[in-house]
Amino acid sequence: MTTAYDLRCRECGKSYGVQPLSICDDCFSPLEVVFDLDYARTRFTRQAISQGPLNMWRYRALLPVADSYEPQTPAGFTPLMKAPRLGAHIGARNLYIKNDAVCLPTLSFKDRVVAVALANAQAFGFDTVGCSSTGNLANAVAAGAARLGLKTFILVPSDLEPAKILNTQVYGATLVRIEGNYDHCNRLCSQIADRYNWGFVNVNLRPYYAEGSKTVGFEIAEQLGWRLPDNIVCPMAGGSLITKIRKAFSELVALGLVEDRPVKFFGAQATGCSPISQAVKNDTDVIEPQRPNTIARSLAIGNPADGPYASRAIRASGGWAEDVSDVEIVSAIQELAETEGIFTETAGGVTTAVTARLYAHGRIHPDELTVACITGNGLKTTDCLQGAYRQDEAIRPRLSDFEAFVEEHSSTSPELSPALSPV
Ligand SMILES: *Cc1c(COP(=O)(O)O)cnc(C)c1O
Ligand SMILES: [Zn+2]
Repeated sequence: MTTAYDLRCRECGKSYGVQPLSICDDCFSPLEVVFDLDYARTRFTRQAISQGPLNMWRYRALLPVADSYEPQTPAGFTPLMKAPRLGAHIGARNLYIKNDAVCLPTLSFKDRVVAVALANAQAFGFDTVGCSSTGNLANAVAAGAARLGLKTFILVPSDLEPAKILNTQVYGATLVRIEGNYDHCNRLCSQIADRYNWGFVNVNLRPYYAEGSKTVGFEIAEQLGWRLPDNIVCPMAGGSLITKIRKAFSELVALGLVEDRPVKFFGAQATGCSPISQAVKNDTDVIEPQRPNTIARSLAIGNPADGPYASRAIRASGGWAEDVSDVEIVSAIQELAETEGIFTETAGGVTTAVTARLYAHGRIHPDELTVACITGNGLKTTDCLQGAYRQDEAIRPRLSDFEAFVEEHSSTSPELSPALSPV
C-alpha cells in the first residue's frame, strides 16, 4: 500500500483505493477504511498527539484525510468527567461520563463524523452534500456545510423534534421532510446518491464518516492517562459508534499507545427501537428490523446498517446490551442532570438508564472503571420534559413573599425526586 489507508470490503476484503463508495460491487457488503498501521506508527505517537490541537484533529494520523488537509471545524475533545453522585445513586464506584452533550459546533458526537465526511466531500469535489438523519446528523451536516460553503439537502422523518428541525434550517440547509421513518429516508438517499453526483455523508461517504467516531475512543484512552477502561456503555442507532470505539482501542493497542486489556462493550437502545439489543440478547448477528416507536428519535433506526457488526463486537467483548422504556429514559435524563449537572437528550437518557440497569443486574461490578457515553444535548429534546416541572406563580419582589415561598417549598425535599429511586 502506498497511501496511509484504503477502502476494503469488510467481508471479502477487496480493496477499492480511496473513492466515494460504501458497498462492495462483488458481495454487497459494507466497505471500511483500513489504515496501514506500519505507516501510521511513526506519526501516531503519544508525543505527536500531545502537540496537536485540542480537538479531534490531534488524531488525524488515523483519520482518513489527506496530509494536506487543513481542518476547518474544531470538533471533539469533550470532557471525560468522574460521575460520583450518579455513581452513588446507581451503585457504581468508578464511573465516568464522556460528555459529547457539549461537542462543538452542534452539541452532539455527530460533529466528529461530519468533520471527516465533509473533508472527504471536498476532496472528491462534491459541491452538494446531504444525509438522511434522525436529527443530530442533520444539524452537524448543515453547520459543517455552511462553514465550507457547500449546498445541502437533508432528509428527515416528518415527526422530528422541532429543535432539531430549527437547528438544521438556521444554517441555510434545504430540509426535506419525509412522510415515513429514518429507514424510508435512508433508502431514498441511496437512490438520490445514485442519480446525482452528490456526497451523502452516511451513504457514499459512510466509510469516512464512520472513522470520525474513533476519536471518542482515542479521547477516552488519552483522558484516562493512556489506558483503557474496563467497560464502555454506548447508545446505538445504526450501530457504528460502538464498533468504532472498539476499533480505536484496538488500533491504540496495535501501535503500543496503551496496554492491551479486555474491554467489555455494552450497547444501549430504547425498547421502542431495539433491533441490536434484541440480537445481542438472542446471541445472534442477525438483525430483525423493527418499526421504531420511541421518544429516543436520535436512536430510532429500525434497520441498522452496522447492527450485525455491533452485535458481534458486543458479544465478542463479553459485554451485553439492554433496552429501556420511554418513561425510564425521561427519569434518567432528570437523574443525570440532578446528580452531575449534565443535561442530555433522549439518547443520553437511554445510556444512563441502561447503565443503571447493568449495575443493578450485576453485569458491571461497582469497582470496574466504566465510561458511559453521553452523545447529545438536552436542549434539543425539551419536548420530552413537557409538563415535568410546575411553574409557580410569580411573587412580588418582597422579602416577606420570598419567606412565604420558602415556607411553602421547604416541605418538598431538595434531594432527588422520588421518581428517581434506583432501578
Ligand atoms: C446518531 C446518534 C447515536 C448513535 O450512533 P450510531 O453510530 O448510528 O450507532 C447516538 N447518540 C446520538 C445522540 C446520536 O445522534
Ligand atoms: Zn466484498
